[in-house]
Amino acid sequence: MSWENNIRKVVPYVPGEQPRERNVIKLNTNENPYPPSNAIKTALAATDIGSLRLYPDPAAGDLVEAVADVYGLKKSEVFVGVGSDDVLAMLFMTCFHSGKPILFPDITYSFYDVWADLMEIPYEKQPLDENFCIRAEDYLKPNGGIVFANPNAPTGEFLALSEIEKIVAGNPDSVVICDEAYIDFGGESALPLIHKYDNLVIAQTFSKSRSLAGLRIGFAMANEKLIKYLNDVKYSFNSYTMNRTVISIGAAAVRDTGYFKNCCKRIMETRERAEEEFRNLGFRFRKSSANFIFVSHPKVPAEEIFRYLKEHKIYVRWFNKPRISNYLRVTVGTDAEMANLFACLRTIPGIAEESGEA
Ligand code: PMP
Repeated sequence: MSWENNIRKVVPYVPGEQPRERNVIKLNTNENPYPPSNAIKTALAATDIGSLRLYPDPAAGDLVEAVADVYGLKKSEVFVGVGSDDVLAMLFMTCFHSGKPILFPDITYSFYDVWADLMEIPYEKQPLDENFCIRAEDYLKPNGGIVFANPNAPTGEFLALSEIEKIVAGNPDSVVICDEAYIDFGGESALPLIHKYDNLVIAQTFSKSRSLAGLRIGFAMANEKLIKYLNDVKYSFNSYTMNRTVISIGAAAVRDTGYFKNCCKRIMETRERAEEEFRNLGFRFRKSSANFIFVSHPKVPAEEIFRYLKEHKIYVRWFNKPRISNYLRVTVGTDAEMANLFACLRTIPGIAEESGEA
């Protein structure tokens, strides 16, 4: 007998690399290339350092109110957490408690199966079709809950709201989590559906479209009964997840909608140009609705391109997983970063030939 027999053993989620060296082009974790709103500076300057001796508001009321105002909701319909990872983990803990298998796509955010394993929630992965699209009918079978990302990650594929509605309407006995981490880059949010279906919850984040991955803020939006259950679990786990500084500067940032919309627009414009460049270099991909493009090259293996770019200090994401091991997920950076990426790709022999530049 050893104490180790009593340990909860898990295979952890592996986040994308955060290189410590400077002067790298970082297109591997879908961060925003633009700085966050200037409203943060003002809010930070107004921070009362003396107040840090006090615990924060466990309900993070100012931040919840700001999100509710921006999305036209009641405060009771909003929940905030430490990044959407925290929000999603709380949702899994709260909503997937039936003992029946939950459903999610075979290719999706790789944290879903990690949380399910950690919390001993059974699951059944549903294969995406040959274009990496979700088939709504795969989710119309007995289940203990459903979670999917829209747009999906790492594919960037957007699922139409009519398909989402089929899934939500067809599962009145399950909670459906729609993870909209990348929704602001051209997709259409399923948020209006929360007023029609009480089993739908939307998760979003400040990490991508609001340039605040370092601050760690995510939020969920659903009917107030579901949000109440979520808060009950959160208060039973850790009452003070959001600190005072994050609550106040996060609230200021989310209210600056003009700046955020402009950043998203710039990223979408760069994405269009980048898609054109990838096409010229012979890459295959489907139209992205996110701030990344999921590409594959017919001649040069993804792993080779990944290593070559890394040697040249350009980081993109390669997943050594079934069905997608010959793909790269490339975050949309600034125009200058993308120009560097394409210049480097053109120096790879198989790619240069494809572009007619060999
Ligand atoms: N959902 C998806 C689909 C993601 O790609 C990510 C980013 N890794 C997250 C949620 C979590 O992001 P964050 O915790 O920074 O909000």
